[in-house]
Amino acid sequence: MPNTTQPIVILGAGCAGLAAGMRLTERGYRVVLLERADHVGGLAGGVRINGNTYEYGPHTFHTTDPEILNDITSLMGDALIPYNRTIKIKFLGNYFKFPLAIRDVLFKLPIPTVIHAGLSFLWHFVTGSIWRPKVETSETLLRRYYGNVLYELFFKTYITAVWGIPPAEFSPSFARERIPRMNILEFLDKLRTHAQNRLGRAVKTDGYVEKVEGNLYTTNQGFSLITQRMGDEIIARGGQIELNATATRIECDGARVWAIEYEQAGERKRIACRGTINTLPINEALLMIQPPPADALVGSARALRFRALVFVGLLVRKDQVLPSSFMYFRQHSFNRISDLAQFGFHITPPGCALLVAEISCDVDDRAWNDEPFAKQAVLDDLIAEKLLTRDDVIEMHVFRAQHAYPIYKLHYEDHLARLLAFFGSLANAETTGRQGRFAYINTHIAMKMGYEAADRLTAKMDQ
Ligand SMILES: Cc1cc2nc3c(=O)[nH]c(=O)nc-3n(C[C@H](O)[C@H](O)[C@H](O)COP(=O)(O)OP(=O)(O)OC[C@H]3O[C@@H](n4cnc5c(N)ncnc54)[C@H](O)[C@@H]3O)c2cc1C
Repeated sequence: MPNTTQPIVILGAGCAGLAAGMRLTERGYRVVLLERADHVGGLAGGVRINGNTYEYGPHTFHTTDPEILNDITSLMGDALIPYNRTIKIKFLGNYFKFPLAIRDVLFKLPIPTVIHAGLSFLWHFVTGSIWRPKVETSETLLRRYYGNVLYELFFKTYITAVWGIPPAEFSPSFARERIPRMNILEFLDKLRTHAQNRLGRAVKTDGYVEKVEGNLYTTNQGFSLITQRMGDEIIARGGQIELNATATRIECDGARVWAIEYEQAGERKRIACRGTINTLPINEALLMIQPPPADALVGSARALRFRALVFVGLLVRKDQVLPSSFMYFRQHSFNRISDLAQFGFHITPPGCALLVAEISCDVDDRAWNDEPFAKQAVLDDLIAEKLLTRDDVIEMHVFRAQHAYPIYKLHYEDHLARLLAFFGSLANAETTGRQGRFAYINTHIAMKMGYEAADRLTAKMDQ
């Protein structure tokens, strides 16, 4: 039976925390969500300024999971709009479609490069089916998927610039989960996997990966309208959401969590809890445990790193700026830029466009710490690209996401497994979501994980 005295405290009100909150309140549990920001949604939330929503991304909703699809469509009704995105990558003066299409590779690269790339691809594909390197990394995997030439051309420098380390330092799971493969490769690979299955050599991969599944949806305020409605639903069912509330300490005796401390409006507060669901970065949550856990765990927490994103938002006097909804660049301060009207966002005043440029960086980089520098760098690059002029710009704003991408560095799995085992051993705690499981996942998977964590927690607590 749900306990009505002490609440279950959910740390973080992104998609995972909100989904956990919806599940628990639906079942009658008393729930308090603690969220550091002044709004819900986390990475999928948006910032409202002068009638416009600037989103980190922006995000689209898509899933083939019947439960998540049903819950979100019921919550959103007509506000959910079907959507088609287009993505272009500017490279060697040409626009390439993403995921990389065979047709673009054949027709847009110089002929000698195409021949060289084709031979290299075949060589790596054939030899890769026979020999495997002693230590598999994202580099060895991408060379095998694409051959040396395409790997060097399209992936090596781009990945190094975006994530701050070269593919050779990434675990192979990064390339498996992040890099979509050309269709012909998928086809050839299926043939090979089929052959390997028959020989009993197939390798199983994890189910939780980031990929586009099902139809795409948006709203006229982007994804943030979905997360707002999830928050409203929790409150309507009696749940409590504390905004501007930064969790600082998890009181735990090594077997169960007793209370959470947080800061809000300069005050230190404490809630005794019946259980907790963490959706904060798993390494940060571990470092909040008091008294501190064993040194090996603390070492593993310190070994996990995230890549940050600075978002520069621009309201401009032009109704369409980009030739596609997203564009990727290799030689600019930002690696990706999106045109929010092309994602269905309502823009005010009419006839204007809202752009969001993403600069990937670390928190000690200048782009993270120096707003005028980040704005100027983006503006200069957009002008150089002839997409706009200085006079077109009405407003510019800077937003930051410190935990945008978990970095799947070689051997990160060992550290992560240690932290997951610790949280798993607690009688009344769960850790979940993109940050809480250090997993490259999309919103619908974060929601599913939130539901599942709520189910596991209540099953444990009610034992
Ligand atoms: C640039 C970008 C684009 C993306 N585009 C898409 C897309 O189009 N479609 C899609 O499905 N997915 C997309 N994703 C993935 C999606 O954003 C995530 O999978 C999802 O939002 C993760 O939700 P979460 O709740 O697990 O984590 P988060 O959203 O990170 O939520 C964690 C929450 O914890 C809060 N928090 C952190 N520390 C504290 C603290 N100490 N105290 C209290 N609160 C704290 C944070 O403020 C945050 O709200 C994108 C991701 C990025 C980075």
